[in-house]
Amino acid sequence: SDHRLSYPVSPDEMDWSDYFPAYFSKKRKLDDTAADAKEDEAEEGDTSAASDRPANPVTGIPLDTKKVEIADIGCGFGGLLISLAPTFPETLILGMEIRTQVTAYVQDRITALRNQSLAAKKEGTDGDGEAAAVPGGYQNIGIIRGNAMKFLPNFFERHQLSKMFFCFPDPHFKARKHKARIISPTLLAEYAYILRPGGIIYTITDVEDLHLWMAKHLEEHPMFERLGEQEQEEDVCVKIMRTDTEEGKKVARNKGSKWVACFRRVEEPV
Ligand code: SAM
Repeated sequence: SDHRLSYPVSPDEMDWSDYFPAYFSKKRKLDDTAADAKEDEAEEGDTSAASDRPANPVTGIPLDTKKVEIADIGCGFGGLLISLAPTFPETLILGMEIRTQVTAYVQDRITALRNQSLAAKKEGTDGDGEAAAVPGGYQNIGIIRGNAMKFLPNFFERHQLSKMFFCFPDPHFKARKHKARIISPTLLAEYAYILRPGGIIYTITDVEDLHLWMAKHLEEHPMFERLGEQEQEEDVCVKIMRTDTEEGKKVARNKGSKWVACFRRVEEPV
């Protein structure tokens, strides 16, 4: 159950600094006094221009200039996030996962990779660990506990995302459970809202029936068009999602099949 999950009232209210500390400064709490605000303003001067924003002292990354652009929905143990991190070192990538312990595990994994990377940088060497040589130092990936079937537009603005991944989603086999599937006409309207025109939904599953279901609903939806075979196969993200998620690895070990379908979010009809 997700009764203890909390959601921001709107994307503006979201404090991303807990998830991407190298990219965001702590959001001022509503109960901070006006006096505090004035004092800070006097000390900091005008920080409204992005180029004047302070940088994170450890990484040198300018704060509050980026937004999450890639979402891994139901990210599980984080394999996709960790592979995408150096592939898109300048892009913020967020995993959303409903299970508490799995979320905590992924958070620990990310923290360890970041620390390794920072330590190697400090020593002024490339280090011997894999993390050291990785562009972006894993500062660009984050994990949040949440129910992706609820309130996604509270986290993301209209057109904020460029990519959404649905890797091996729970199949919910029985017909009466199909409404629990993460691809449905209602949810697709939400995904179309938060994805920018040209943005891509990636789906992969080892359950053929679920593949046909997801492809059917996406094909029927006016805001999505399917990627051709060639474009799909040339996409580096498709390669990564075939091999690097934990579920995908399990399927490979069991010599199961993997069905992929990718869809582009079309321009707004005029
Ligand atoms: N994507 C990962 C992979 O390929 O290894 C995990 C796949 S696993 C079969 C499905 C994951 O989706 C589980 O970790 C589950 O907890 C998560 N999940 C299911 N429903 C969800 C929801 N409504 N919101 C967020 N995560 C969800």
